[in-house]
Amino acid sequence: MQIPFLDLRTQYQQLAEQLEHRVLHVLRSGQYILGPEVEAFENRAAQYLGVADAIAVSSGTDALLMALMGLGVGPGDEVLVPDFSFVATAMVVARVGATPVFVDVEPDTLTIDVQQAAAKVTQKTRAIIPVHLYGQMADMDAVLQLAREHDLWVIEDAAQAFGAEHRSGRKAGTLGTIGCFSFYPTKNLGAAGEAGLIATNDPALAARLRIIRNQGQEYRYDSTVIGGNFRMDAVQAAILNVKLPMADRWNQQRQQLAHTYRRLLEQAGLVEHPHRPIRLLNVRYADSQAVFPHVYHQFVVLAHRRDALRQFLAQQGIETQVYYPVPFHQQQCFSQYPSIADPFPVATAVAQQVLALPIYPGLSLAAQQAIVQAMKQFYDA
Ligand SMILES: *Cc1c(COP(=O)(O)O)cnc(C)c1O
Repeated sequence: MQIPFLDLRTQYQQLAEQLEHRVLHVLRSGQYILGPEVEAFENRAAQYLGVADAIAVSSGTDALLMALMGLGVGPGDEVLVPDFSFVATAMVVARVGATPVFVDVEPDTLTIDVQQAAAKVTQKTRAIIPVHLYGQMADMDAVLQLAREHDLWVIEDAAQAFGAEHRSGRKAGTLGTIGCFSFYPTKNLGAAGEAGLIATNDPALAARLRIIRNQGQEYRYDSTVIGGNFRMDAVQAAILNVKLPMADRWNQQRQQLAHTYRRLLEQAGLVEHPHRPIRLLNVRYADSQAVFPHVYHQFVVLAHRRDALRQFLAQQGIETQVYYPVPFHQQQCFSQYPSIADPFPVATAVAQQVLALPIYPGLSLAAQQAIVQAMKQFYDA
């Protein structure tokens, strides 16, 4: 059975008529950058997230970069980041001339270990960037408490968690100072090109970010601060305006697929096996009022002999991915930062174990059964 890791064409076909209609409208309008389509998306996103302001931008990476620029983080400042995430989370800190301080992650969720973050706070620490990895939130209660104690900005990297909820029901990306989202096509809410979003409840910060988005121009040809070209184009906004109303349904389907994976892996004995070849990650807030405690942007397990398993699955036509094979402290581009000398036992170990299985609305039960069956075959051999 051929099972691709992700098939974006299925999602497109589901909405083809609406998407084509709306994109054609943009093409005919002659308004291609920002404008009414982008404003409509900003309003819709702000309402969905429950924030005062949503600013549509050029990518998730740019959202994070702008957040640091908007808060004035720069040379001499330190920013706490998890050691285990997509590289953009830490690279933006380096790009503004500040120092990323790497923090190990919790073994059960792979999100930033806040107790260890607390031990790394210094006089220079200005901000913390919790990452809501794979679609579930970092321990935001602890993050916010730490931020209050030390007067830190909280920049949520919610690139993988559009629609995820804190136990209070508040959405990922709306609890800190700024929330950053990505709509890269493979994300759980994806555009048809590069796109991102910033959410904030601080009106002065929102105004500054809108200026930064457009070359620091407060008025045309009057640049008051250093900015960049961080604008969203109208075609991406048109796509997102069609897809946003589907987000909850898609996230719910992802949850159901994750539930099925857990059940199948347990039934196959891979989790309770004496050697426990597969370890499942924990779901935070699973027993709370939150409808979407985890939106499963990815379904990731920790697998014994991961690389051999992955190769075996590939031979059976089953595509998997590794998010992420190299922790930040081992990345060459970060070799100048002192915190790389610290121990990172969890990030180092899980980088060898994480395995992402296919998960997307439309993935069939037969495909999930075939995947788990193949995993069982590998470990039984
Ligand atoms: C995708 C992603 C980003 C970057 O988003 P882009 O839109 O690709 O620039 C940042 N952080 C995390 C955790 C991501 O998954």
